[in-house]
Amino acid sequence: MASDMKNKLVLDIHTHTIASGHAYGTVRENALAAKEKGLVGLGTSDHAPGIPGVCDPIYFGNLHAIPRTLYGVSIYYGVENNMQNDGSMTLGEPFLSRLDYNIVGIHGGPCCYEDQGIVKNTDNLIRCMANPKTFFVSHPDDGWFPLDYESVVLAAKEYGVALEVNNAHVKHPWRKDCLKNIHTYLELCTRYKAPVFVGSDAHDPSQIGQFEEAIALLDGIGFDEGLIINNSEEKFRSFIGFESK
Ligand SMILES: [Zn+2]
Ligand SMILES: [Zn+2]
Repeated sequence: MASDMKNKLVLDIHTHTIASGHAYGTVRENALAAKEKGLVGLGTSDHAPGIPGVCDPIYFGNLHAIPRTLYGVSIYYGVENNMQNDGSMTLGEPFLSRLDYNIVGIHGGPCCYEDQGIVKNTDNLIRCMANPKTFFVSHPDDGWFPLDYESVVLAAKEYGVALEVNNAHVKHPWRKDCLKNIHTYLELCTRYKAPVFVGSDAHDPSQIGQFEEAIALLDGIGFDEGLIINNSEEKFRSFIGFESK
């Protein structure tokens, strides 16, 4: 698929390993896949406690055991956390401080979140976004958990948090109003100059760096590449306040 984007997406920062309980690759397999895709960086962001089959919090406390570079690909330590009904998250301190970044996501069902209505859903999400370790929101596109997108985008701008265009959700848009909602928040991100990232949400090494459907969507609306965080490693590092040690 030909892309109009001038700047290639060079980091995949929303990816899962076997530690998520329903994903099928190791960090090394994902890193090798990232290298083969020509990425410069891989963020590993397994599901936090709450989702069936995930690891205990100590897993996230020990991610620094993974080398900072595998197969020439920079490795970043993250988590895909779960917003809860009271606006807290299922993985908290001291674990979050040991990570490079927190991604907050709404995951429904008995594990994590029940719809509280648009006002409370939005308040809860903004509370999670205000956490200094939160730099990303995964797939805020599911209409079963309605959000006031104008408030969410303004919070994204205020707190320096990027909203995701989730490639898997664009490719398989069975969630309620998913594509419509993505277009709504991208339009607001354009208006308010709020940051965005594209994530593969890979649950298998073969899905690492799969951005094609999201890129086509962004190209289709002529989205400003300057607002996309994962098309430059320098931009990504500065966004999360990463200092190489
Ligand atoms: Zn998710
Ligand atoms: Zn995910």
